[in-house]
Amino acid sequence: MKIERRTVEFKPRSRNLFFHILTRCNLRCRHCYINPDQHGLEILDEETVTRWLSILSGKGISACRDTTGAREAAAPAGETNVIFLGGEPTLNPALPAAVRAARRLGCASVTVDTNGFLFHDILEKVSPGEVDYFSFSLDGASPEVNDPIRGDGVFEVCTRGIRKAAEKGFGISSIFTASRINLHDLGNMPSLLKDLGVTRFFIQVIGIRGKPASRGETDLQLSREEWNEIVPEVAVRAAGMGLHVTYPKVFLESHEKFQCAGLVADNYFVFPNGRVYRCPLCEDYPLHSLEIAKDALRLRPPVTELDLYGLTIPEGCVLNRILHPGNIDYDSRGRPENRIACCMLKEEVCPGR
Ligand code: SF4
Ligand code: SF4
Repeated sequence: MKIERRTVEFKPRSRNLFFHILTRCNLRCRHCYINPDQHGLEILDEETVTRWLSILSGKGISACRDTTGAREAAAPAGETNVIFLGGEPTLNPALPAAVRAARRLGCASVTVDTNGFLFHDILEKVSPGEVDYFSFSLDGASPEVNDPIRGDGVFEVCTRGIRKAAEKGFGISSIFTASRINLHDLGNMPSLLKDLGVTRFFIQVIGIRGKPASRGETDLQLSREEWNEIVPEVAVRAAGMGLHVTYPKVFLESHEKFQCAGLVADNYFVFPNGRVYRCPLCEDYPLHSLEIAKDALRLRPPVTELDLYGLTIPEGCVLNRILHPGNIDYDSRGRPENRIACCMLKEEVCPGR
């Protein structure tokens, strides 16, 4: 089978709205990055989710930019991809209404990220015409690998949920967060996913944020060599089986241009306490550049993430330089040996057309 591989360019007129509609979750995954101290414990109700969606999917963002002069024309709602997240978003009874509100606003796509427990009979309350993808988190191809990371019995519940969603005709994707605990099992994922009816496979790299950061578990992070040895080969094999695979670029080759998504893309990471970030690496800190207050999206005064990722440094991503300096090697003259790509820059490997 012919395989296509490419780096996905940032699209300034295609907006991605990562909308955390609560922070609560029934699980306690080892690498969870949810941070209620920073993002609150509110469970957004139907009315608030709908109002915020309308603010964030077009006009509100445009107004915010006009004030700052920071951006050109905003993407219309029709180019907004909404990803509902938590915590566990299906724990929020407002999720079906949120999905329908996104559809009413004409959003380009709607995805629900879930741990597989599918609370409140969510598969009965929304239809495949309303949700483009349910995206299930699985961190291993067996209970022996997945459950020590995500919790006892979770593999069984999650795979059952995937089969049920596939039977109902929903689009299914799966997210695998790779770390030193489970990288050895990544190669077993493609055949499992194929069998379950999954069509899109997202491989994430563990970030030292949230729980791992608070426990100082920096040894879970993969080296460039560990990542390069396994991930690209598994991605090609998965694509050969018909899966559409996406994984972070992580490091740039010398000929590749560095771009910060905070400056050139249109991503918004929205939390239930009204914080809106442009860079996911800033989420553990009160550095959000925007906030929803008094029913409008407002730009916050300095110092915010905007003041950090606006800097140009030879290492590439400023936030990686600040938060994970150990990931960057320097030559004898103090120059970085490789540049760190924006964490939002992805490689795509898929079956050729
Ligand atoms: S399912 Fe997601 S939100 Fe819940 S504990 Fe696991 S990583 Fe955190
Ligand atoms: S991860 Fe780095 S490059 Fe990407 S948005 Fe944040 S600061 Fe910018």
